[in-house]
Amino acid sequence: MKIVNQLLHTKGTEVWCVAPDDTVLTALQRMADKNIGAVLVTDNDALVGIMSERDYARKIVLQQRASHDTLVRDIMTANVVCVRPQQTLQKCLALMTEKRIRHLPVLDDANQLVGLISIGDVVKEIIKEQQILINHLEDYITGVAR
Ligand code: AMP
Repeated sequence: MKIVNQLLHTKGTEVWCVAPDDTVLTALQRMADKNIGAVLVTDNDALVGIMSERDYARKIVLQQRASHDTLVRDIMTANVVCVRPQQTLQKCLALMTEKRIRHLPVLDDANQLVGLISIGDVVKEIIKEQQILINHLEDYITGVAR
C-alpha cells in the first residue's frame, strides 16, 4: 500500500495558503485561481487553520454575511487534522471518511508543512493501485506474462 510521501512525489508539495487576517473574498479568489476546494491558514509559517468551500457555504452564504467584510479567522476550522508522510493512503482515506473532511495537510516530524492531500488525490491513487493488482491477477489466471 502506498504512503503519503509517494503521493506527494507525484502530485507535488506545493500548498496554497492565506493569512488569518485575509478576507474570505481573498481566500475564495485564491481557491478559484488555483482551482482548489480549500486553503490552509498560516501565521508566520505556522499552520493555524483550514478554510474550505463548505465553510464559505455554511458560514457566509447561509448566514448572509459578506465575504469582503469577514476575516478568514472567523470562519476557518482551527483544529486541523494532519497526517505524517509515512501514513498509508488507506489510513488517510479512513480518517477523511471518519471525520467527514476532504483535505489533509501533511506535517513532517519537525511539524513543518510539507504538502496537502485531498480525497480526490487519494481515491485516484488507490484506484490506480487496484487496477495494477487486477491486471496482475488477470495475467496470473490467464497465464499471460506481461
Ligand atoms: P472539506 O470536506 O475539506 O471541504 O471540509 C469540510 C469541513 O471540515 C470544513 O469546515 C473544513 O474547514 C473542515 N476541514 C477540512 N479539512 C480539515 C482538516 N484536515 N482538519 C480539520 N478540519 C478540516
